[in-house]
Amino acid sequence: MNANEILKQYFGYDSFREGQEQMIHTIMEGRDALAIMPTGAGKSICYQVPALMLPGITVVISPLISLMQDQVKALNEAGIHAAFINSSLSESQITKALAMAEQGAYKIIYVAPERLESPQFVQFASRAELSMVTVDEAHCISQWGQDFRPSYLKIIEFVSHLPERPILSAFTATATEEVKNDIVCILNLKNPNVIVTGFDRENLYYRVEHMKGKGDFVVEYVRTHPNESGIIYCATRKNVDTLYEQLFKKGFPVTKYHAGLGQADRKKNQDDFIYDRTPVMIATNAFGMGIDKSNVRYVIHYNMPQSMENYYQEAGRAGRDGEPSQCILLFSVQDVMINKFLLEHKDFSEVPDEDVELIKQRDAHRLQVMEGYCKTTGCLRNYILKYFGEKTVGACDHCGNCHRKYQETDMTKEAKWVINCVAETKGRYGLTVVLGTLLGANRARLKELGTIHYKSYGALKDCSEAELRTLISQMLLDGYLYQTEDRYSVLRMGDISPLKDENHRVLIRTYEETEPARRQKTSRKRSTDSLTRAGYELFEQLRQLRLTIAREEAMPPYIIFSDKTLIDMCAKVPQSKEEMLNVSGVGAAKFQKYGQKFLDEIHTYQLQHPNAIISMQDGEDDES
Ligand code: ADP
Repeated sequence: MNANEILKQYFGYDSFREGQEQMIHTIMEGRDALAIMPTGAGKSICYQVPALMLPGITVVISPLISLMQDQVKALNEAGIHAAFINSSLSESQITKALAMAEQGAYKIIYVAPERLESPQFVQFASRAELSMVTVDEAHCISQWGQDFRPSYLKIIEFVSHLPERPILSAFTATATEEVKNDIVCILNLKNPNVIVTGFDRENLYYRVEHMKGKGDFVVEYVRTHPNESGIIYCATRKNVDTLYEQLFKKGFPVTKYHAGLGQADRKKNQDDFIYDRTPVMIATNAFGMGIDKSNVRYVIHYNMPQSMENYYQEAGRAGRDGEPSQCILLFSVQDVMINKFLLEHKDFSEVPDEDVELIKQRDAHRLQVMEGYCKTTGCLRNYILKYFGEKTVGACDHCGNCHRKYQETDMTKEAKWVINCVAETKGRYGLTVVLGTLLGANRARLKELGTIHYKSYGALKDCSEAELRTLISQMLLDGYLYQTEDRYSVLRMGDISPLKDENHRVLIRTYEETEPARRQKTSRKRSTDSLTRAGYELFEQLRQLRLTIAREEAMPPYIIFSDKTLIDMCAKVPQSKEEMLNVSGVGAAKFQKYGQKFLDEIHTYQLQHPNAIISMQDGEDDES
């Protein structure tokens, strides 16, 4: 079978997504490969498809037990022979699995990195035919990332002791240059094809809300989005507990997760979430790695995270099925303080002394960028994409800021005064002094420093402090100024050349406050938009059927069929096996297991509702 046939037969998809075919092609040429793709882009298929085409076994190194268990379940469901070997199995189960693997029972074996040091596994690997070693979540090899796992460093030793070098393929969603270089160097990838796909996740709608009553916002959001699965991230365990109580008391189907809970509770709560028994999860950032629940419709950040990397990864857990989903960040000034506190108390006991200062500076910089996201008045999507090094063209018209009503004020003249003032400080002072000077504040500190004698002293006394702060934030974002990352964080001159052009304008947006509810409107359509009322009814019935099967088989519902697949069923209303195989996400094995049940359910529905129109091509509303 060729790659396209495998995609259709096992996974039920008609075409590859961006980057997938290139990755598969590279691997099949026998070349090492590194894919940097955002969460939800479909990395797994990039190694699963070639694993089926290569002669021997593919070993996938994956950092989390829950992740590998899920993947193996999904593969087995798709009719692919795969297994995992990790500490959740007993010694005798491991021996048995390895013996079966040696006999060629599995095409794909998932292992935790620690396993590579086990003599039993090394022995197995030296006897078996390994075609490929795949490193999932490859950024765990980099000490610069948040998720550094020392055991990832063992991978290269393991590979070098194999009788024949297999193809190495690595996958990550972390895009920064230093992490990419670390992966290539430390894994010793040979002339790798590095494939970086776009970081834009078009189905995600980003919003930042500045507010005090965050709890009320969350309650209202969960109330108005029943039947939707979501994750609410809080910065601290205490916040998780409080918010959980608040929602639980109101009868919402919520659960919680943080490192303060016992292992059994964590496992139970995570499963309740994955199996949609309690579809709303409130958690610290301890939750989520390895969760590939595809129908998460919203991720709300109750507090600002510490970096854009964290934010993008956590928010990216929404909408893995490609359906429109919301990523909402609730910002308050205290968030910055909480994060500064957390960073000050970060544990550096395992970090070499010479690296501590560097890491602190990086952390401070990341926090600044994150704060910038919360405060920017420009397009949120572009802010993210720019940070990850992507070119952007115009505002996205699909984020909270793009949909907000605003006024644009020309502050070119004021911007020039800010530059003058920073020049006069010779880059020695921070934001407070610069602001005070420009506003002409009567402060002893300014007298002491002598800034009251500057030309810029009081030059902008007609502006409000808030306006000036917004202006300076914008100038930092635009690169006219920058803030040093040491403890004193002084303002320095950046690239001011654009301002030398007479026609160049510095425009500042100020928002008119509108009702948050009105801003929730998104411009993208959901696939469910093409369903009529009857279509919805059928969709609900199919979901119910899926839940019943999931419970019988102790399987997460989305592994049986994703929401997207069920919606496609309602749109196509298949009447036969052939038509069912045309539904996106229905492969041969899944059809064999479940196809008939779903066909029967659709048939029954049609008998009961002979005149129902289930879907409409152009997505008009059914008013009947
Ligand atoms: P990642 O590991 O990059 O976060 P996954 O491999 O979990 O993403 O894939 C995300 C979702 O996209 C899964 O539900 C997967 O089945 C689906 N998917 C992957 N490739 C395709 C494709 N070519 N067509 C349609 N859906 C796809």
